[in-house]
Amino acid sequence: MTVFRRLLAVLTGSALIVAPDAGAAPDGGVPPVSPQAAAAGFVDVRSVVPDAIVDLRYATPDNFVGVPLYPPDARCLVHESMAPGLAKAAATLRTSGDVLVFWDCYRPHDVQVRMFEVVSNPAWVARPGPYARSHEAGRSVDVTIAENGQLVDMGTGFDDFSARAQAFATDGVSAAAQANRARLRAAMTDGGLAVYSGEWWHFDGPGAGVQRPILDVPVD
Ligand SMILES: [Zn+2]
Repeated sequence: MTVFRRLLAVLTGSALIVAPDAGAAPDGGVPPVSPQAAAAGFVDVRSVVPDAIVDLRYATPDNFVGVPLYPPDARCLVHESMAPGLAKAAATLRTSGDVLVFWDCYRPHDVQVRMFEVVSNPAWVARPGPYARSHEAGRSVDVTIAENGQLVDMGTGFDDFSARAQAFATDGVSAAAQANRARLRAAMTDGGLAVYSGEWWHFDGPGAGVQRPILDVPVD
C-alpha cells in the first residue's frame, strides 16, 4: 500500500479494513492469543473453525447470573486437543449448511466459583474444586447450530435448568428439536467430542474429565 493510500485510509477511518499489514494477524485475521493462553496450549476457536459464530453468553447479561462474567472482548479459547475434533464437526455440519455457534469455551476458575454461588446444584453447574477440568481446562464447549444465521430449534435455550435440557430428553421436546440435537451430536461425535447427558449443548473433548492444575489464563 502506498503512503498516500494509507493516509487516505486513516483519514477516512477505514484503516482497519484497507491496511491489513498494520498490526497484521498471522492466523487468518485472528489476533494471537495471550502469552498465558499460548503457554496453556489454548487456541482461539476462530483459527480452528473460521466460520464459527462466537456468542459468549457470559460476556453479556444474557446468562443465568444476569450480569456479564467475562470482559466484553472475551474470546472462545479451547485447548489445542479439541481443535481437530471441532474442525471435523464443523466440516460435517457445513455439508448441510449449518455452522457451529459457541456459547462458552474456556471458563476461568473464579467465574466457575461465582456461578456455583448462584446455582449450587452440581447437576447444572460444576462444583469448583482444587483442580481444573472441563471448561476450566479449556477442554469442553457449549455449542449449538445456526442455519442461515438463525439458531435452530433445540427445544430449550442455553442454561435451561430443566429436564428438557437433558441431551436425550423427549418429554416436552418436539421431534424436530430432538432431530436437531441428534444432528449436532452426530457431528460432534464424528470429531470425538462427547455430549454430557445432562445438557444437550455441552460437549467434552479428549481428557476433559482429567483433574489438572487450576489455570491463571485470562479469557480475553
Ligand atoms: Zn458446558
